[in-house]
Amino acid sequence: MTLRSRILELEAASQPLEPGAAERDRLMAQAHGYVQRLLADLQERPAYNDDKSAALELRDLPFEPGSRPMEHLIERIHESVVEPGLLPSHAGHLGYIPGGGIYASSLADYLAAVTNEYAGVRFTGPGSVEMEDLILDWMARLVGFPETADGNLASGGSIASLIAIVAAREAAGLRARDYDRTVVYASPHIHQCLHKALRVAGMGEAVLRDVAVDENRRLRPESLAGLIAEDQARGLRPWLVLASAGTTDTGAIDPLSPIADIAAAQGLWLHVDAAYGGFFALLDEFRPALAGMERADSIVLDPHKGMFLPYGTGAVLVRNRDALRDAHAHYASYLQDAVEDEGGGRSPAAVSPELTKHFRALRVWLPLLLHGEEPFRACLREKLELAKYFRREVQALGFEVGPEPQLTVVTYRWVPASGSANAFNQALVEETHRDGRVFFSSTTIDGKFVLRMAALAFRTHLDTIDLALEVLREAVARLEAEPGHRNPMARTAGVQT
Ligand SMILES: *Cc1c(COP(=O)(O)O)cnc(C)c1O
Repeated sequence: MTLRSRILELEAASQPLEPGAAERDRLMAQAHGYVQRLLADLQERPAYNDDKSAALELRDLPFEPGSRPMEHLIERIHESVVEPGLLPSHAGHLGYIPGGGIYASSLADYLAAVTNEYAGVRFTGPGSVEMEDLILDWMARLVGFPETADGNLASGGSIASLIAIVAAREAAGLRARDYDRTVVYASPHIHQCLHKALRVAGMGEAVLRDVAVDENRRLRPESLAGLIAEDQARGLRPWLVLASAGTTDTGAIDPLSPIADIAAAQGLWLHVDAAYGGFFALLDEFRPALAGMERADSIVLDPHKGMFLPYGTGAVLVRNRDALRDAHAHYASYLQDAVEDEGGGRSPAAVSPELTKHFRALRVWLPLLLHGEEPFRACLREKLELAKYFRREVQALGFEVGPEPQLTVVTYRWVPASGSANAFNQALVEETHRDGRVFFSSTTIDGKFVLRMAALAFRTHLDTIDLALEVLREAVARLEAEPGHRNPMARTAGVQT
């Protein structure tokens, strides 16, 4: 066999990777047909399915040299991936900080994947990089950053936070020998991804000061100022303040203006974690609550939360563009054609650990232009009102409620007539998981086990909240009727016998 005929034979064998127009239609019809069936009765499905055994059935489909029919694969995806556990696209996702999954973004992902646009370097992907720049400019204006700001669309809030922490480290000129006398200030309620980011940035040895919080779990500026003064007197090096514009636990927004005053006066880098709360800046009436955010040195926002996007996009903004670039730019000879071209501006690869990256900008850009900003505003506003409504109504059912929510998280618990309230509420959240029509998560506040209701999924509407209240009412009634249910340990023992 000649070399040419061997090559042509291999070309033919690889042909399934390039389905023709008719085959593309057929595959698309199957995928789209499934999406239509799923979305048609999404809300009749459970939001949460406690039985996760079907996930393991993925193993029944080993990777083999031969092909398999698309319809079987879609069925497997449905049974093993969509059904078990949480269905995050469901209106009844009221746990953690819910994500979204707006349809326009899924189409953008499809277009991004088919064109496979290269979003890491401007030289080869001028349009995709320009689009990312436009989105970052839009977000920078939203948070009140100056023209000198820069940023990056990363995979989520965690990697966006890491990018910010590394920029802060380099901007301070910190070296490894300084780390164990370098001090970070944060309330105990910052997101765990910031602890991770510090460690990944090599700064696990830095001193972390727990700043005191007020009765609504917001950082106390006086405590911050006092701790910084003490550390300065000790000869330590105060470096970074981590503030939250919406904690994950309760949606508490730290008092950003006084914090910014202190950080500026002492020359500390101020990072604001606005992964949850940042997009509420789209609402004029909400901007006062976020005042001071515009004075941060870096900010993280999560479009896969507050813009209702499917998972996979977190944004970092850094006030001083040089700080971001100095921390991340690197040169390699195989990219010599791609170094910053005349006047085009930096590439995303110069401001992030990523080189090749998903064309994330399109999944933000397409829905923003297709729908306009207004539906996003309405959806955020609706969630704020739903949180107030839920708090009022759950209190009317007899629950003890936490403070008026600043964002869209409400904490609440049932105080039983007798027995341990913590054990009862743990049994209660587990009971709602077995019910599954909506999904709640829980947390512990000052030693009290409380349930959380977080309204941020775009499909969560008034009927969802009414259903959530019904689920809670029924679950409490079941637990109250069966005293054995009150103690989760006793129940587990009962199952075993
Ligand atoms: C979700 C969240 C993060 C982490 O972002 P990921 O996108 O999950 O990586 C950080 N901070 C807050 C306040 C969050 O809600």
